[in-house]
Order: sequence, then structure tokens, then C-alpha cells
Amino acid sequence: MSNNMSYDPNNIFAKILRGDIPCKKIFENDHVLAFHDIHPQAPIHALVIPKGAFVDYADFAANASDVQSAAFTKAIGEIAKLLGAHEQGYRLISNCGVNAHQEVPHYHVHILAGRALGPMLSGK
Ligand code: 5GP
Repeated sequence: MSNNMSYDPNNIFAKILRGDIPCKKIFENDHVLAFHDIHPQAPIHALVIPKGAFVDYADFAANASDVQSAAFTKAIGEIAKLLGAHEQGYRLISNCGVNAHQEVPHYHVHILAGRALGPMLSGK
């Protein structure tokens, strides 16, 4: 997928991309895959991932091509529409690194929607 040496090709989203593990697919094109989160935190909880091997937002921002970047941004908007999330609004979250508690080391954006989501952070 790429020559990024810090990327772990055995992370769970890489396995989903290879079809080794199933997912509940929402959307797919040449650059992007979206599927439902296995532990939803809201009535709508989708994960959007690039098909390229990027560890996190910082990696994607620094190393994705313009085509990959544009495709990813546009896909998120399309997926939010597909899910009906744009009508009442939605929240995008991308956890990047240790302080953000990123669990899966393949860049992803969460789309959360379907209820009032409360304050941005827990406050703790
Ligand atoms: P992070 O903390 O890395 O931003 O979020 C990782 C997300 O991936 C979590 O919300 C978690 O529920 C989700 N997740 C972890 N493993 C799987 C899986 O095997 N399938 C799906 N669909 N989601 C997963």
C-alpha cells in the first residue's frame, strides 16, 4: 500500500481493507472506505478511512497526494449525506496519537450523529 515504515500492515483497519475481516460497509470508491463502528457511540457512528497506508492525521496531512486528500474530504461529505446525518448535524472526530487515545493506527475519521452530542469533550 505504501512505503511508510511506521505503518503496521496488521492493524485492524488494514485487515478490513484487505477483506480479511468483515465490516458493515457504507461507501467505497478508489480512495476511501466507510463502515459502521463496531461499538457505536451514537445512533449513527461511521468510520471513514483512506485506502492508502497512513498511520494518523499527521501522516495523512504530510504525505497524502492532493487527489487522496480531496477524495477523502469529499467522501466524508457524501457519506454524511448518505447516512442522513447532514440534516440535523454531525460531529467529525479524528484521534491522532497517544494523548487523543487513538486505538487503531490507520488514519480514520469518525462521523457521529443521530442525537444531540453534548459538549465537545467530557471535561475530565
Ligand atoms: P480510535 O480510538 O482509534 O479513534 O477509534 C477506533 C474505533 O474503531 C473505535 O471506535 C472502535 O470501536 C472501532 N473498531 C475497533 N475495531 C473494529 C472492528 O474490528 N470493526 C469496526 N467496524 N470498528 C472497529
